[in-house]
Amino acid sequence: MNKQTISLSIFFPAYNEEANIRNSVEAAEAVVSTLTSTYEIIIVDDGSKDDTGAIADEMAAKNKHIKVVHHNPNKGYGAALWSGIQAAQYDYIFFTDADLQFDFSELAILMHFVPDYKIVLGYRSPRRDNFLRIMNAALWNFLNRLLFGLKVKDIDCAFKLMDRKLVASLPLKTRGAMMSAEMLIRLQRKKIPFKEIPVSHYARVEGVATGAHPKVIIRAFKELFALFQSRLGALPREQMVRFTIVGIINTLIDLGLYVYFISRYHFFADHLIVAKIISFLAGTVSSFLFNRYWTFKKKTKLGITEIVRFYLTVAGGLALDLISLSLFLSLFHIHPIWAACMATLVAFIWNFTLMKLWVYSELTSLAPTRLNKIQLKAFSTIRSKRKYS
Ligand code: UDP
Ligand code: MG
Repeated sequence: MNKQTISLSIFFPAYNEEANIRNSVEAAEAVVSTLTSTYEIIIVDDGSKDDTGAIADEMAAKNKHIKVVHHNPNKGYGAALWSGIQAAQYDYIFFTDADLQFDFSELAILMHFVPDYKIVLGYRSPRRDNFLRIMNAALWNFLNRLLFGLKVKDIDCAFKLMDRKLVASLPLKTRGAMMSAEMLIRLQRKKIPFKEIPVSHYARVEGVATGAHPKVIIRAFKELFALFQSRLGALPREQMVRFTIVGIINTLIDLGLYVYFISRYHFFADHLIVAKIISFLAGTVSSFLFNRYWTFKKKTKLGITEIVRFYLTVAGGLALDLISLSLFLSLFHIHPIWAACMATLVAFIWNFTLMKLWVYSELTSLAPTRLNKIQLKAFSTIRSKRKYS
């Protein structure tokens, strides 16, 4: 595929963007018309209550490159993306928000990487949002990493260029704010490499952001858990079960050895703490090996860093177990057995998370590739030309 002949479908999900939609479409057209002669711009009016739909229709009537899809009533961000994907007809789709928070000229940077890459993702650098939004996003990225192994810098950055047929073939189930994550999880499962590019981000000037609305967040979490229950979540669920079984096995080894030592040997009966340390360490060795080869099935060569990370995690888990046990006992005055269960749960979450994402993490092969010198130069030229608003 020759670069000049790559055709592009750009679409904007738009909900109540009457103050922004015209400028967004014009900015898009100014850039896309320099990149390819075959393009379309699709406005997905997601049941707007303001004049967005009317403005979109008026623009489409005057320009054959512009199309409009209307939703009635509002269906949510993911559903708007889905309609855009369905309506698009060209080789690549590019979608971004209709609220002028991005710099369109940076689409040219993303275009550098197609068709070598089928998926080119922007990440906001720096992100112009308040602290709470940034924390929300960090938690969201973390959960998707933990539950689905998704490794991208900025899941919800609305600056994505993708091979249309590839995306349209995905059996996407969600229609809320989880949709971007689901799309990327499914692509990563197909081992499609991602190219990640830093893009500029600006604060919203006109209109109202809905991304942090409780309704949007609750729907996103419902979709996250539904997806975790589905086949997509099968692997981490299996890992959690195996991790629990390994935990039970090494507790039994620990206890069994301790009882054996102190009942068989006078030395250990006189030095209980030594018996405890040895049996505990034996338990950790079994835990390390079972988790490495059975729970997380790590394939790379065993290294000292991995062992150090493992013992740091175990030490942290032990400390957390004791601290939370004493906190639960002193603060909540609950039954010691309940307190112990809750403390064990805290330690379990800690251990599982760190083992999966740190000790046995093996996602390096899917890590974003770096820009080469020519790409960096093109990138800085475009970025230096942009207007700061
Ligand atoms: N949007 C949409 N349907 C909705 C909510 C939002 O199509 O139900 C559009 C909105 O017009 C914007 C994009 O999705 O173009 C992102 O929304 P917003 O800016 O509110 O999200 P945030 O930037 O706060 O995450
Ligand atoms: Mg926005």
